[in-house]
Amino acid sequence: MNILEIDKLSCDLHAPETGTLSKSLRGKVHMKESMKKHTSWRAGGEAERIYIPADLLDLTYFLCSLSESEPVHMLGLGSNLLVRDGGLKGTVILLHAQLGDLQLEHQDEIEGLIYAEAGVTCAKVARFAALHNLIGAEFLTGIPGTVGGALAMNAGCYGAEMWEVIEKVKILNRSGQIYERRPINYEINYRHVSLKIKSSIENQESKNIISEEWFVGGWLRLKSGNGATSRKKIKELLIRRIGSQPLNLPNAGSVFSNPPGDYAARLIESCGLKGFRVGGATVSTKHANFIVNTGHATAADIEEVMRVMQDTVEKKTGVKLMQEVRIIGEPR
Ligand SMILES: Cc1cc2nc3c(=O)[nH]c(=O)nc-3n(C[C@H](O)[C@H](O)[C@H](O)COP(=O)(O)OP(=O)(O)OC[C@H]3O[C@@H](n4cnc5c(N)ncnc54)[C@H](O)[C@@H]3O)c2cc1C
Repeated sequence: MNILEIDKLSCDLHAPETGTLSKSLRGKVHMKESMKKHTSWRAGGEAERIYIPADLLDLTYFLCSLSESEPVHMLGLGSNLLVRDGGLKGTVILLHAQLGDLQLEHQDEIEGLIYAEAGVTCAKVARFAALHNLIGAEFLTGIPGTVGGALAMNAGCYGAEMWEVIEKVKILNRSGQIYERRPINYEINYRHVSLKIKSSIENQESKNIISEEWFVGGWLRLKSGNGATSRKKIKELLIRRIGSQPLNLPNAGSVFSNPPGDYAARLIESCGLKGFRVGGATVSTKHANFIVNTGHATAADIEEVMRVMQDTVEKKTGVKLMQEVRIIGEPR
């Protein structure tokens, strides 16, 4: 696919001729706001600036209004994220409150196509699919993030992953252009997705386009089936989660990825680390791959617990655990 072809929407096309771009912005700005409010760990420093776009067009305008040097952090629900205590330079863009379009675009007796904007929660997509008798998205019910975050992480559980059901994605880049990409354009791995740099992308304009870009929506192709069975499965998955995860305390899910053929939680538990604590951060006694915030944990506490888990497991088992949560920001 030629990435320049589809649905191209550039700043030049949409910026008002008067140049009073900022006046046309309809989103909300928060200055110097704690990221504790915006991460499921409820820990970490301040964001210099937060922008909550009114919708996709507004987000496009906003990106165009930024200086080239402004760092941008596109976030969903912050459920896989640790922001260091020194905070974040630049602008955090929160998509979860907005970009909430969710539509059934096509359905026949064999399959259906759902379009979900990046800010829609995964759980909502799972319920929406079941409501329309589409099956295969039930696993999304257990992922407490957004569609954008699930695309970025290739989130998954119980043997299913986000990109297995993705037909194509809608992308917005730093220059305000919107286009589509297909799974073939990405290296898709366990909890990791990266863009393949195509040798066919030769000219400078195209190179710039792929320099910084984000998911603003995704199309899920799902098989037609029985909605009631799907809803039952969703309920069962939720019960299983409540039974196995410490959902009563702030956490960010599994801290480390499962190594091939094994479970990070099993390795951590086998090293006697359940209950290990630094400040307000503790290795959960319910699920050893979770670090819970038992109250007032700093990001540094959490990072130190992670370091000890990684070092101990490597020393005792020879397995180097790979971090699954994303860590951003400055140390204090
Ligand atoms: C209790 C609990 C259980 C969990 N269980 C699972 C599980 O079973 N399986 C699993 O895979 N994960 C699990 N997670 C982790 C987390 O929910 C997923 O990784 C989720 O996909 C993150 O979505 P988010 O919207 O919160 O992303 P965020 O945490 O906001 O962001 C995560 C990363 O994605 C990037 N990102 C976010 N939105 C976009 C976008 N629109 N475009 C480009 N990049 C973007 C961010 O920059 C960041 O690097 C769990 C977390 C918790 C708290």
